[in-house]
Amino acid sequence: MSIKYVSTRIGDNNRYSPAEVILRGLTEDGGLFLPTEIPAFDKGELEALAGQPYPAVAADVLHRYFPCFSLRELRADAEQAYGEAKFPDGAAPLRMLDDKIFVCELWHGPTCAFKDMALQMLPRLVVRAMKKLREKRTALFVTATSGDTGKAAMEGFCDVAGTAIKVFFPSEGVSDTQRLQMITQEGENVSATGINGNFDDAQKAVKTMLADRRMRKKLHRQKMFLCSANSINWGRLVSQIVYYVYAYNAMVRNGALLPGEEADVCVPSGNFGNILAAWMAKKMGVPFGRLICASNKNNVLTEFFETGVYDTRREFWHTISPSMDILTASNLERLLSFVAGPVETTGCMERLRDCGVFGVEEAVLTKLREDFVAFDTGEQATLETIARTWADRHYLCDPHTAVALSAARRWEKEPDAARRVLVVSTASPYKFSESVYTAIADRVPEAGEDAMALLHAATREPIPAPLCGLAEKPVRFGDGIDVDRVGEDLAAFAARMRLSR
Ligand SMILES: *Cc1c(COP(=O)(O)O)cnc(C)c1O
Repeated sequence: MSIKYVSTRIGDNNRYSPAEVILRGLTEDGGLFLPTEIPAFDKGELEALAGQPYPAVAADVLHRYFPCFSLRELRADAEQAYGEAKFPDGAAPLRMLDDKIFVCELWHGPTCAFKDMALQMLPRLVVRAMKKLREKRTALFVTATSGDTGKAAMEGFCDVAGTAIKVFFPSEGVSDTQRLQMITQEGENVSATGINGNFDDAQKAVKTMLADRRMRKKLHRQKMFLCSANSINWGRLVSQIVYYVYAYNAMVRNGALLPGEEADVCVPSGNFGNILAAWMAKKMGVPFGRLICASNKNNVLTEFFETGVYDTRREFWHTISPSMDILTASNLERLLSFVAGPVETTGCMERLRDCGVFGVEEAVLTKLREDFVAFDTGEQATLETIARTWADRHYLCDPHTAVALSAARRWEKEPDAARRVLVVSTASPYKFSESVYTAIADRVPEAGEDAMALLHAATREPIPAPLCGLAEKPVRFGDGIDVDRVGEDLAAFAARMRLSR
């Protein structure tokens, strides 16, 4: 029961309990929460999880980070979060692409993107944490989304008693399906608003609100408190470690790996949460070799792992993999703090805030490169990867997964790359029908054509049930507010929630 949490930075010396960490977005100094130790698997413990159902693996991993909840409680929550009702095809099915590359599909949940893996579990952890801390106020979650988090969070928190959720998405930066999914979401305690700006603008606005003492005081008077459902939330991150443990064991079980043999892992990255979870799994003792950080045209992470300089002073591109259109990868701060310590991290984050750029010392870069390599893939090459993977392997992938497959293919050619590669697939191809159809058919759907139907006719791949009939659902939410009005918008939502209680 000794695990505690501290800040990634030097301005907050408190030690926080696991339950506090789930309910708080940031530390007092604007940093993120880090565990004081990484709870590694003892000899035989990883093997003992092989063959266990996903909820059992989830309970085991979560209990290590949140020992205040019992294994039994966590198992019950995980069964609801990852059971057949939510994941009819299983939580993280593994597909073999060829004898080298294995794809773990993380998009078989209710919103058809990997965010469900964490956001089906988070509300249950939140409810447990509130009980533990005897919290009677309503937890008001606020989230910036590049497209998939928003919907997954709304779906996860929909009508969960004692919680409410407000989502801000970039009006111009999400796919048609992503927008429809959000603005048609049901539930009395949810709301989404589009902002004029990109994801970074939305994320910055949300971080500012989370740190705003006046806002917190005002909400407190209304018997509410603010929380973050972004991937900076530690409860989300831990839930993401689970599928790496599960997928590694699945590769051993189906003979792709000998027990203990290393695999490399390739992750399509944006805010750096997913790949940080892979790194945590490695540090816990899952035999992973290199972690391949795959980026789209917004290649700030690629450059960072090559040069040690993280430079956001560049053009922001809207790409066909919008959930990775991010220049400020928040979870990188956690990796930095683990590797370089809180003093250097504080300096880096101050330089990032003041100048938009920071660099790490040579020794830190060397250390990072022991675990990470990075590749970026442009728009045309992403489309080509979708087309080639379909033509050669009869495997239909979405643009985010294609960015990862492209990186994995390039990594395969390096002298260091002898291991099998676990590629995580983060979205259903039907969530991005227009781009995927364009890649497969080599023609852009015309105005008025239904891209999803075209893609289905061309490939005969099944459309996930949650994406059927979206266009017919009533629209509940609007968009198009300026970024300086998010505070007002949130306050109005809070007032509505208060009246409806
Ligand atoms: C969120 C998301 C990503 C990026 O994941 P991070 O944890 O932010 O790095 C990649 N692909 C899809 C489909 C996503 O929704």
